[in-house]
Amino acid sequence: MALWKCQVCGYIHEGPEPPEKCPKCGAPKEKFKQLSDQEAELVLRSRKTNYLHMKALNILRELLEVAEEIIKDNLDPGCVKIANEEKEFAITTIQKIMAELETHMKKGKWG
Ligand SMILES: [Zn+2]
Repeated sequence: MALWKCQVCGYIHEGPEPPEKCPKCGAPKEKFKQLSDQEAELVLRSRKTNYLHMKALNILRELLEVAEEIIKDNLDPGCVKIANEEKEFAITTIQKIMAELETHMKKGKWG
């Protein structure tokens, strides 16, 4: 399946031919350029990485919830200590992933 990129806004269309007009910005069919196999592969890999980062974010948010529950329960200092480390790790890693995703978007890497 070929990938077509709108040269005006970066919208990507998947199909044997470009769309009549861009669904995002309304540019005509002529503004679409077919991506080379190499470019298309990069777009698909970028999308997969993006998806995996989102999945990791969900797991970390769950870890954060679990850690907070353990801290709230406050059974013994050993448990709370570990839970605080889990919480710290989850928060820091969530922030790192968000920063990384923002960098990708600025570079237009997902286009
Ligand atoms: Zn467009």
